[in-house]
Amino acid sequence: MGKHLAPKTKHELKMNIKKPTRVSEQKSEKKNAAVKLSGLLPNNRLQGLMLVCAFVLLIVVRFLPLDGWMRAAAYAIPLLLAIVDPAADAAAKLRSGTLLNQEVITCLAAVLLFATGLFPEAVLLLVFFRCIKLLEARLVENSLASHAKGLDILPQSVLVLTENGEVRVPPSAVNPGDTIIIRAGERIPLDGVITQGITTVDTASVSGQRSPWAVNVGYKVYSGCRNLTSDIKVRVTRPYAQSTAKKIVRIAENALDFPSGQALYAARYLRYYTPAVLLLSLLIGVALPILKGGWLLHLRRAAVVMIAACGATELYSIPLLYRKALAVSARSGVFAKGEDCFESIARSETMIFDKTGTITEGRYAVTDVYPVKMSERQLLTIAATAESFSRHPIAAAIRDAAGKIDERVIRHIKMKEVPGRGVSAHVGDHQVYVGNAALLEENGIKYNIPSRPGTAVHVSVDNRYCGYILVTDKVRRRSFDALETLRVNGIKKLVLLTGDVLSVARPIASRLNFDMLRAELKPEDKARAVDYLMKNKGGRSTIAFVGEGENSGRIMSGADVGIAMGSLGSDVAMASADVLIMDRDIFKVPRTLSLSKLVYRLSWENMLAGVAAHLLIILFGMLGIISAFAAEVLIFAVCLAILGNTLRIK
Ligand code: ADP
Ligand code: MG
Repeated sequence: MGKHLAPKTKHELKMNIKKPTRVSEQKSEKKNAAVKLSGLLPNNRLQGLMLVCAFVLLIVVRFLPLDGWMRAAAYAIPLLLAIVDPAADAAAKLRSGTLLNQEVITCLAAVLLFATGLFPEAVLLLVFFRCIKLLEARLVENSLASHAKGLDILPQSVLVLTENGEVRVPPSAVNPGDTIIIRAGERIPLDGVITQGITTVDTASVSGQRSPWAVNVGYKVYSGCRNLTSDIKVRVTRPYAQSTAKKIVRIAENALDFPSGQALYAARYLRYYTPAVLLLSLLIGVALPILKGGWLLHLRRAAVVMIAACGATELYSIPLLYRKALAVSARSGVFAKGEDCFESIARSETMIFDKTGTITEGRYAVTDVYPVKMSERQLLTIAATAESFSRHPIAAAIRDAAGKIDERVIRHIKMKEVPGRGVSAHVGDHQVYVGNAALLEENGIKYNIPSRPGTAVHVSVDNRYCGYILVTDKVRRRSFDALETLRVNGIKKLVLLTGDVLSVARPIASRLNFDMLRAELKPEDKARAVDYLMKNKGGRSTIAFVGEGENSGRIMSGADVGIAMGSLGSDVAMASADVLIMDRDIFKVPRTLSLSKLVYRLSWENMLAGVAAHLLIILFGMLGIISAFAAEVLIFAVCLAILGNTLRIK
């Protein structure tokens, strides 16, 4: 879903071609203010007070022994009190060009009720709907506040070390390379590397993970996290605009621009429904009596039908439901790039996992070394030297096993990562290959077939085979439970893709009950596998891809929704995934799925309840078997239930 990216990246262009209707549709609909909840009023005490007064007066007048025009005049007072605000809103919306809005219709219906002698009903209608409006405004405000509170991670100022000592400056004034000081207890303002000090860092505000970790000189720290125990000096690596905290905040803000399909659907529906109901009441209230007479009766029926057009809650509160989902998941360190991401996840029946770093730890360890005509140490040293600059977890394992490599040698390395295969390096005058069988085959080098199962990393120097190193990665303890939870929540097909050898992948796939396994894939094969599954998926269901942020970024853009794990500090993940899980907790995948399903279900529930109440009132109103009062109570109750549903997301 490239549409969540900054515009005009390669992959967005690709996606634009793939899903033209969806993207252009999105653009035109995006302007619909209703979907974005911006039509809601700020909460206002005065309005609340006026409503209470109107209601109390209504009750008082109801029990006064008044007749004729005195009665009408008495009811006019609460009516005026209650109609001021809706009328003001209606006028404002009319001025901005929205002709058939809720407020206009509510006011019209109230006036009609009053004109036909249904005085208390007229007042009650206004009071009810204003009540709902204020309640909803309150809920929206709360959801915005909780979204913003979770994201209170941007720095106000930064303490920079300059020639003149320590100076506080605005974060945008700090450049990469500058050294900043972060006091214990302060939030880390910018991304960088520790140059002095040892401390613990709490990443909860960005990753949702509660356990702080210890960091030392040379470790990376990310903005938005909190420095807990002691003061540190950090060399800034990225300008403020590209810092992790800034990126997260930008993602969270932009997410509001991508409404769910359900909200768009509701908006489209209401665009036709509202004028249709008005037309119907016009027919009943004007056309019928012209033909058959009985003006009062028909006008009253028309007023009842009009009540059915007062939906009151903004689009059945669907945008509010999704807004809350954004806030709830952000609090646990899961950032969706659009409200529609939840919908895609809710509808997914297939989930594809990239093995390394998602269901496995992504932390390899060397288990065995099989050198050819050299010592184990020599083989490890050659491999580790060539892997010096690789960010692959296998490289890290080999470097760990080899120990320290001579700095002077490292300076003479030119290395190229060959994705899904290994590395090709020039160490001094020597050409070194370190990687899987495919890498050696492609370069025409003969290699030994490993006698034991495992991920073999073959090494060659100047086309001479030097042996292989066996590495293993552990399956995460919680993977099994997490995958089972996915199944329980409706995922029908679990697919495992990996570049690793079949002998390693198969036992994992069968132990974790994957439905489909493809091993020994190069990155381009993985992308092709995703395309294949996308082409052959059923009906309206979607496919979610779960990968480790750093090295499956490009592949996941082919699926309906890409979920990246371990996104903290990974630019690739931040740029290409639709949903960012900041830490590596695999349980956040099923948790996001069940949240998505809940929001999706509640949205339908709300819409169905709203539509059902409307249709019932229209039908019974036309036949004259429902009183205005009953219609009002019914729709008020349904609106309350719709709003109540939004409280279930927390
Ligand atoms: P996965 O699908 O498990 O994420 P990758 O696509 O990252 O795997 O890599 C596939 C295979 O390529 C690995 O199992 C390994 O054999 C080989 N490989 C990739 N990068 C390296 C590297 N830097 N060093 C050694 N082997 C590598
Ligand atoms: Mg990988």
